[in-house]
Amino acid sequence: MKREGISRRDFLRGTMASALGVAATGILGACSPAGAATDPATTSASVNEETTKAETTAAETTAAETAPQMESGQTAPVLESTPYEVYHTELLVIGTGNAGVWATQRAMEEGKTILMVDKGPFRHSGASAMSWDALMIWHDYAGMRTPDWQLINGETAQAAFDYLGGAEFNPYVESINHGQTLPFRDANGEVAPISPQLPKTTVSAFFRREMDALLGTGRINVMDQTMITDLLVNGDRCLGAIGIYLPTGRMRVIRADATIMASSGCTQIHGWLNIGYRGINSTDNTGDVPMAAFRHGLKIGESEFAQYDFNSIIFKDVAHTFGCGIGADAGELEVLFDANHERIFADDEVVNGNLGMCQRIGELVFKDKKGTANDGVYCTYTQESYETVRYPIMRNVRFFQEHGFDPIGNYFEVAAEMYEHGGAPIIDKNMMTELKGLFDVRGAGACGENGGPHMCHNRLYGHYTGKCAVNYLNAAPAVGEEEIDWTPVEEECRRLSEIRTRKVENGLRPHEIRRKIQAAGYRGFTIYRTTEMMEEAIAELERIRREDMPRQVLADDSTTFNVEWKSAIENINMLDSAEMSIRASLLREETRGCYFRPEFPQKDDVNWNCMLACHLEGDEMVFEKIPYPEIGG
Ligand SMILES: Cc1cc2nc3c(=O)[nH]c(=O)nc-3n(C[C@H](O)[C@H](O)[C@H](O)COP(=O)(O)OP(=O)(O)OC[C@H]3O[C@@H](n4cnc5c(N)ncnc54)[C@H](O)[C@@H]3O)c2cc1C
Repeated sequence: MKREGISRRDFLRGTMASALGVAATGILGACSPAGAATDPATTSASVNEETTKAETTAAETTAAETAPQMESGQTAPVLESTPYEVYHTELLVIGTGNAGVWATQRAMEEGKTILMVDKGPFRHSGASAMSWDALMIWHDYAGMRTPDWQLINGETAQAAFDYLGGAEFNPYVESINHGQTLPFRDANGEVAPISPQLPKTTVSAFFRREMDALLGTGRINVMDQTMITDLLVNGDRCLGAIGIYLPTGRMRVIRADATIMASSGCTQIHGWLNIGYRGINSTDNTGDVPMAAFRHGLKIGESEFAQYDFNSIIFKDVAHTFGCGIGADAGELEVLFDANHERIFADDEVVNGNLGMCQRIGELVFKDKKGTANDGVYCTYTQESYETVRYPIMRNVRFFQEHGFDPIGNYFEVAAEMYEHGGAPIIDKNMMTELKGLFDVRGAGACGENGGPHMCHNRLYGHYTGKCAVNYLNAAPAVGEEEIDWTPVEEECRRLSEIRTRKVENGLRPHEIRRKIQAAGYRGFTIYRTTEMMEEAIAELERIRREDMPRQVLADDSTTFNVEWKSAIENINMLDSAEMSIRASLLREETRGCYFRPEFPQKDDVNWNCMLACHLEGDEMVFEKIPYPEIGG
């Protein structure tokens, strides 16, 4: 495969032959080498590093046994040889996708020091950096109250809209001023809307442009390839986050007086098909930070809701990301057929966006048994749909034609693939969670039954959260270093080191356990959910927690780019997220969002026009109904 001057098409041609599994499993991610211009340790002055809080050569012992009893206020000596670096910033943003970038753009204008952290390589991680020629959706507030945005916190949404200037807000100008080119133009060179009904929605947004422009300002710091595994919490206040610099395994603590979560949901729980998971989001989005918040006792809402698109599953040994797949979403219902090649949707049929499409196909595949062996349906394009449909992935038709399959006039199999998920800490009107100083762009109440954001959610709440965090920084008393209890850092170091160094008989490797979590996730959390399917899935997840997780071991306990260590840590978060999501779905006795529940085939606004929030009591997941504040509530 040619290394220099490789074209995208030649690159894809190369991968098709040898490593397409790679595209599916995200190893592509490691593009920017450590120490590149994004690592604050090598670049910025404003983020100061206090290396190695305490260095000991204590023998590698199980810290729990030897932990000395500490006097109150005494800073705990590091019991294990786990040195950690400490970075200081005023505002920490976890996640550099569009949620994090839009929050940072606004916070940056207020002159605060900002450190953005990401698990993957900056500009090459998460959904946003797949840069898939995005459909840049925007609704004015009135438009937000559409059926698929019914269950949201109206008070917060109104406050966010008012902050952006209501109907005057122009997302095109905002994005172009932050690096976008938005090439889809009309004859006068104006940005063209995708349809008259959506005057402020256009196509061909490439989100990398705004990441490049943001970094180009030189006014922010980015720390990438750093996986946040826990929040630094003292009492009722979040004082930053704790994580691992993946290339070296070095522990990092980011001390921040305000922290914004923008690290996506857990989209990896939706099954495994042949060589890839049944989804099109990044493999890095495993719900780590929301589940860390859950372990700190925060209420997590909307975990029962997710989003699915129908993406190609043509070749058994090929898994397609969105960027190199073909398929359909609610904008192309006419190209979807059942197993007998009968059209699924009539010409003039109106479904409620992706939500209605998924409910309908769920019923068709699982109840009417009119799906394919892989629980999919068929899709085919006409020459006319190929030339007229502005669905970004149409560009891949030629790629498939060059590889021996013509999607025009031939049926190909597509299946529901998960691309977004709810499941975030509940937030107040100022986007703040139950922990002081911790904000969440995708907090529960922001996206509701939509099941995680579209770009319009992330833009609306991203900009607003940036502002709210700065307001908090200006008002909240700063915390002196001497006041901080570092014990949570020691405990997190111990937890992660135990996962890495565990030795048990008859151990299970992280990928083995992950497949089981994904299989249970698919059984209970797809577009069709019966009581029986969900109960079976929960029983299996309970068994995995009881029997398999204690046997999770790694092939080696090195700290250097130990991807198994990363997977093992993620598995704990995925298990919590999967169990919580399916329990919430089982409790919600109605059909809503992207799934169909045959025992309760209708939406039930009498009993279920509310959020379901989950918190931990001991080891128990406890759920409660929380009403959504109405407009002007
Ligand atoms: C393939 C695909 C196509 C889509 N198409 C559209 C579209 O056309 N229009 C639209 O409106 N919406 C679309 N969406 C939905 C939605 O807009 C996107 O999911 C959105 O880009 C999400 O942005 P985000 O910033 O919330 O998440 P992401 O872009 O995924 O960013 C989250 C970041 O958090 C990082 N992260 C995760 N865990 C950790 C951790 N433990 N520590 C540190 N960092 C962490 C990840 O590496 C990632 O970079 C699409 C989604 C997908 C997946």
